[in-house]
Amino acid sequence: MVAEQDAVSDRSDYPRAQSRQDLARNLAVVRGQIAAAAERSGRRPEEVRLLPVAKTVPEQRIRLAAQAGCREFGENKVQEARRKHDNLAELDIRWSIIGHLQTNKAKDVAAFAAEFQALDRLRVAQVLDRRLQAVGRGLDVYVQVNTSGEDSKYGLPPEETLRFLKELPPFTALRIRGLMTLAVFSDDTDQVRACFARLRQLRDRVREQNPDLIGPGGLSMGMSGDYEIAVEEGATVVRVGQAIFGARPLPDSYYWPTT
Ligand SMILES: *Cc1c(COP(=O)(O)O)cnc(C)c1O
Repeated sequence: MVAEQDAVSDRSDYPRAQSRQDLARNLAVVRGQIAAAAERSGRRPEEVRLLPVAKTVPEQRIRLAAQAGCREFGENKVQEARRKHDNLAELDIRWSIIGHLQTNKAKDVAAFAAEFQALDRLRVAQVLDRRLQAVGRGLDVYVQVNTSGEDSKYGLPPEETLRFLKELPPFTALRIRGLMTLAVFSDDTDQVRACFARLRQLRDRVREQNPDLIGPGGLSMGMSGDYEIAVEEGATVVRVGQAIFGARPLPDSYYWPTT
């Protein structure tokens, strides 16, 4: 109980962002930290893409973020993403679905999303591909891997990932861009780092054995609390919400399954 309250008060430490200036400042801070982490680990800052995560953020503030230079947003829930896509159509935003997808929502994703980062079931790949072919679209895809071993996380076990990737080439509308993971939620940065390193090593192994299966071999890993570690471990995409938009009112258990 005490731990839970601590976690909540931690969350409120994220800077509020009501105005375009607030958002521009937070974006600059995050970009600066990404650049510093990249340089610390001998990488170039341009190798890391910042995907702003806008779940629960109202459309008005997404407009402000777009004015502050954001051209793409990540969303966890398909319905919310679809609504924002439709209502903000004139902004020409690239929408990325980063949350678990049920097959009955795949049709929606195929209709408007540019990217899907949480593929971990063949059935979803089948349905997505069929719908995409029908509407003549393609979709950038990351395969989600469970690197923390927690039951409560979605994603494939690392040892099943290669076999899964081998099943995907027939789905020609899916453009495989790499792997995605969520690290363990822990204050122990060694444990967090180990999850990111595991994803990188898995990517390297797949590349060695079968480079065609993984496209550019991107690594989508790192969120507000751990993106600097992720960049140090090789992230090519970081998915950052609260450090840009401020603390979220809803607990994360609303977005992730809990056991
Ligand atoms: C919400 C979410 C994020 C971003 O989390 P923040 O704490 O807001 O940075 C990243 N990845 C996934 C899958 C998410 O659902």
